[in-house]
Amino acid sequence: MKQFDYLIVGSGLFGATFAYLVNRVGKKCLVIDKRPHLGGNVYCENVEGINVHKYGAHIFHTSDKQIWEFVNSIVEFNRYTNSPVANYKGMLYNLPFNMNTFYQMWGVVTPEQAFAKIEAQKQEALSAMRAEGATEPRNLEEQALMLVGKDIYEKLIKGYTEKQWGRKCTELPAFIIKRLPVRLVFDNNYFNDKYQGIPIGGYNKLIDGLLAGIETKTGTDFFADRVHWEGLAEKIVFTGKIDEFYDYRFGKLDYRTVRFEDEILDTPNYQGNAVINYTERDVPYTRVIEHKHFEMFGQEVYDVPKTIVSREYSVEWTDGLEPYYPVNDQRNGELYKRYKALADNEQNVLFGGRLAEYKYYDMAPVIASAMNLFRMQVEI
Ligand code: FAD
Ligand code: UDP
Repeated sequence: MKQFDYLIVGSGLFGATFAYLVNRVGKKCLVIDKRPHLGGNVYCENVEGINVHKYGAHIFHTSDKQIWEFVNSIVEFNRYTNSPVANYKGMLYNLPFNMNTFYQMWGVVTPEQAFAKIEAQKQEALSAMRAEGATEPRNLEEQALMLVGKDIYEKLIKGYTEKQWGRKCTELPAFIIKRLPVRLVFDNNYFNDKYQGIPIGGYNKLIDGLLAGIETKTGTDFFADRVHWEGLAEKIVFTGKIDEFYDYRFGKLDYRTVRFEDEILDTPNYQGNAVINYTERDVPYTRVIEHKHFEMFGQEVYDVPKTIVSREYSVEWTDGLEPYYPVNDQRNGELYKRYKALADNEQNVLFGGRLAEYKYYDMAPVIASAMNLFRMQVEI
């Protein structure tokens, strides 16, 4: 008999959700994390009374009622609705692309006028593509031109996308842009999901709630004493990098990452919105986050005299940086499959979460995935 039923490596949303569920059915578990805090990428640091999203802005959204009820049973969520604004050369445009954007871009006031404008620009793009013998958009640029036409592509998409991905739009896959909504109504809600918000009191409340009563150790790297940790529990749930788990034996997976420059400003309200995207190529950062707007509304913004902003710079990942986004290309897809084949043969190690599954997961699907793994464990 080992000391624990489960050793959970990583206290992000995957590990914390799984730990919560197995703990509730009486299993003994230990959660370790190499960072000096719990919560993985949803961790917030309180500075000047404001919760700062240390690893990038996180907005919870889902249409899955079960997931929404689950997180709300741990902590209540506020009414935050993500409605980013784009700044292009000092002009402001609402996102996602909707009637407000079309009015700001072209002065059109009815859906019919907006539709006609987009349609004319789409036709231009389609003719250019056909002249080259293509029937389907071959890359992100063509896809964007087909979705919204050249004015929006050039002002709101091209610069931002090339900064974010470090590659030309003509060299990026079309699917990246397909998920951006285009609406002929006045609706600045970035997400189409039914439920959306931020935990009242911040994400640490969610993590602390999930891990309440569970033994945890931070500042503890699994690989620093692998043999010790492997001997401690009947099963391991591993949420770190899958290639690292196998000593990079087939080579390293690539990631893209983000660098944040945080600044405390002596003003209660710097930009009037949580998220402002800078869509021109010449501004080096992609967006500026003003954290207080995630949790403070109306007068509350002015009750806290200072504000914290983070400028986000998208950078190529190298060892030592935080691995944020898996890279969706053929090389990495094939490499991941080789590691996955090893993982599928493990008897006592279970893999889950965005690093172990090398998958760009939002928070709600990560929770759903941890719930699935739990169900499979209970059924065994
Ligand atoms: P993680 O949070 O990465 O947790 C993994 C944990 O494992 C980490 O704490 C790490 O320190 C630990 N670990 C790794 N290796 C070891 C080791 N060897 N030993 C011990 N511990 C280890 N989702 C949304 O739904 N909405 C958003 O707005 C949103 N915004 C995002 C913005 C950014 C910049 C990023 C990067 C992600 C965003 N996400 C968003 C996605 C969200 O962060 C993830 O879905 C979620 O955090 C994944 O949880 P996880 O547990 O899989 O991974
Ligand atoms: N995008 C853009 N302009 C914007 C915001 C997004 O062109 O102002 C594009 C960009 O290519 C990005 C994609 O839309 O990669 C998806 O954006 P989203 O904000 O959904 O991506 P995330 O950063 O959350 O992965």
